[in-house]
Amino acid sequence: TKFSDLALDPRVTQAVAEAGYETPTPIQAQAIPPALQGRDVLGIAQTGTGKTASFVLPMITLLGQGRARARMPRSLVLCPTRELAAQVAENFETYAKYTKLTKALLIGGVAFGEQDKLIDRGVDVLIATPGRLLDHFERGKLLLTGVQIMVVDEADRMLDMGFIPDIEKIFSLTPFTRQTFFFSATMAPEIERITKTFLSNPVKIEV
Ligand code: AMP
Repeated sequence: TKFSDLALDPRVTQAVAEAGYETPTPIQAQAIPPALQGRDVLGIAQTGTGKTASFVLPMITLLGQGRARARMPRSLVLCPTRELAAQVAENFETYAKYTKLTKALLIGGVAFGEQDKLIDRGVDVLIATPGRLLDHFERGKLLLTGVQIMVVDEADRMLDMGFIPDIEKIFSLTPFTRQTFFFSATMAPEIERITKTFLSNPVKIEV
């Protein structure tokens, strides 16, 4: 398989080529086609496998030409740490460079002001840590009823850090009809329970 065989938005394929990637990694080759068909994806994968692009590339393609409305992001990526969220945001910038899609990085440890401004303007993709995301929600600054695609990255680390109740709350604030991509390096019983509750007939991929 090559990236050009994957039915990605041509603007995404172009950005991937310029990043120097020709061949999808195993998780990319297995996750991208069902993701583009609208399926939920459960990826059991470590970092270093290319899992970030396996959800960012279909997400950009699926969001397509649409436009975000103020305070109503169309997609939400949850990461356990600020560092990981920043990496996902960097990847998004790289692969979305030929689109008009917009993003905001919502992480703790920085002032709310700039994040508020971006949310008010309307962003297609929020990339967030769970605590800061809920802070914005509880301040009444954010509606999650427009979320079409939700990603949970490194769920096993979310579990270690005590974020599972936050994740469940955030899931419950998004529409039942959303598409979900869920990644974890391991399948602890608590993780398995969450996937059974919130994923709908997912394609399970183990790499
Ligand atoms: P990740 O598992 O998402 O953290 O990605 C691990 C590393 O693999 C990152 O440095 C990516 O830039 C790189 N990468 C992602 N996709 C590919 C690919 N198809 N071919 C080669 N390298 C890749």
